[in-house]
Amino acid sequence: MATTERSDAYQEIREAVRALCADFPDEYFRKIDTERGYPEAFVDALTKAGWLAAMIPEEYGGSGLGLAEASVIMEEINRCGGNAGATHGQMYNMGTLLRHGSEAQKAQYLPRIASGELRLQSMAVTEPTTGTDTTKLKTRAVKKGDRYVVNGQKVWISRIQHSDLMILLARTTAVDQVKKRSEGLSIFMVDIASALKSGMTVRPIANMVNHETNEVFFEELEIPAENLIGEEGKGFTYILDGLNAERTLIAAECIGDGYWFVDRATAYAKQRIVFDRPIGQNQGVQFPIAQAYMNIRAADLMRFRACELFDSHQSCGAEANMAKHLAATASWEAANACIQTHGGFGFASEYDVERKFRETRLYQVAPISTNLILSYIAEHVLGLPRSF
Ligand SMILES: Cc1cc2nc3c(=O)[nH]c(=O)nc-3n(C[C@H](O)[C@H](O)[C@H](O)COP(=O)(O)OP(=O)(O)OC[C@H]3O[C@@H](n4cnc5c(N)ncnc54)[C@H](O)[C@@H]3O)c2cc1C
Repeated sequence: MATTERSDAYQEIREAVRALCADFPDEYFRKIDTERGYPEAFVDALTKAGWLAAMIPEEYGGSGLGLAEASVIMEEINRCGGNAGATHGQMYNMGTLLRHGSEAQKAQYLPRIASGELRLQSMAVTEPTTGTDTTKLKTRAVKKGDRYVVNGQKVWISRIQHSDLMILLARTTAVDQVKKRSEGLSIFMVDIASALKSGMTVRPIANMVNHETNEVFFEELEIPAENLIGEEGKGFTYILDGLNAERTLIAAECIGDGYWFVDRATAYAKQRIVFDRPIGQNQGVQFPIAQAYMNIRAADLMRFRACELFDSHQSCGAEANMAKHLAATASWEAANACIQTHGGFGFASEYDVERKFRETRLYQVAPISTNLILSYIAEHVLGLPRSF
């Protein structure tokens, strides 16, 4: 039993996900990481077991569970040594369709997503020249008859090669014709296979983590008008809506990572003998691990608070952002404590610490950087003057 093991209301889900993950041990994820591959067999197994359809309502073939349960699934994957980043997009992208899609769109896509026939793993928001300043994005979608014609460019768009569908945010009304810059943006469902034949080009970006991500170029890409999700011009609000779920799920992944680091550091500190005693007997080794554990436990409480608010349809922007920030910081501190505890062996791939260290570092930058969360709390929660 892991040092950090405790039981809670989600024990059944935890045990079932762990049982599935047991078929995909460290060696599996290490090999995928070395080969810069995609954990296809793992994602298939998760899909077949129904875990990726957790938040799809039962009437569309899913299990109709809440964000709390979905977050436990993501946490357990990372806690078992895997990387939910290969597949977490499906959990939150589907929410956009569920909340803002028409009945016809939901009936068309959701049952096929729930069964695994279709994957909705991709969301294209970030652009190279505007970055976090999302409302300035330059990709344009212009309505011509029964189609929208898209021109522009995106960057860091993940999992396109392992997805059938992608949610795209583009400007439909020029920025000088709207009252607020957040208006005039719209979201579309893009059928990836057909877009690749008619105006969309994808170029993979080699990166520090094994996170499949890409530059995307649109040149006169035609999207059927019926693929517009919700009302034209309101896409930015729809995207923001989905971000609270995304942040809370990523927080849970960081918590899973954090517990993994603490477990590995504790186990190693107990068994590694230097100067004729376990290194874990030295307080210089103990304290960073103890501190990391406390930070993760605290972030874990904020994660469940965000889930509780989200699942009861209350506003949870502050809690989702705080959970993401606290968890990402805690998992990074735990990663540091773990690699330090392992000494030189922390750098050897076969211990998996360096892989998880790289993986958890991402979450201080994506899907939203730590500074932007601090600025949200300072300005939107505490009412301090706006800096931008
Ligand atoms: C592996 C990976 C996968 C990704 N997947 C996706 C995806 O699937 N879809 C998608 O749309 N995007 C994706 N992203 C993009 C990600 O969301 C962005 O990288 C992130 O939001 C930061 O934006 P940026 O890189 O443009 O940084 P920038 O906006 O250029 O910011 C750079 C730095 O400056 C800081 N900064 C900027 N403005 C301010 C300010 N006013 N005050 C204080 N600090 C500031 C930021 O905090 C940051 O640290 C991914 C990124 C990575 C690395």
